[in-house]
Amino acid sequence: MAMENDAATHINEQTMCLCGRIVEMRTSLTENNPGRRFLGCSFYGRSDAYDYFKWVDPPLLHPRYNSVINELLRNANREAVLENKWQRRVLYHRIVLALLVLVVFVQFLL
Ligand SMILES: [Zn+2]
Repeated sequence: MAMENDAATHINEQTMCLCGRIVEMRTSLTENNPGRRFLGCSFYGRSDAYDYFKWVDPPLLHPRYNSVINELLRNANREAVLENKWQRRVLYHRIVLALLVLVVFVQFLL
């Protein structure tokens, strides 16, 4: 894991990590810094010797905010899972319906 550092070069307003990759705006999903944005090497967290890392957002002022945001993220995740299940069910029903229509159509042809 990289330490906070400014090890980077700046080319055409794009920040480049010392490993040569472009630095991207990313969002932390850790329990301690949920939703906090940072600039990181696109290979951040992988075994890269020059992991550029710099916070963009300031730390939250109260630890209570962390638990609230963590709870919101967990709920959003749960919603996404439910929505995904629902979309798969709709897709399944469409496929079944299409097969039924096809079977009926073939019956008329024969
Ligand atoms: Zn890098």
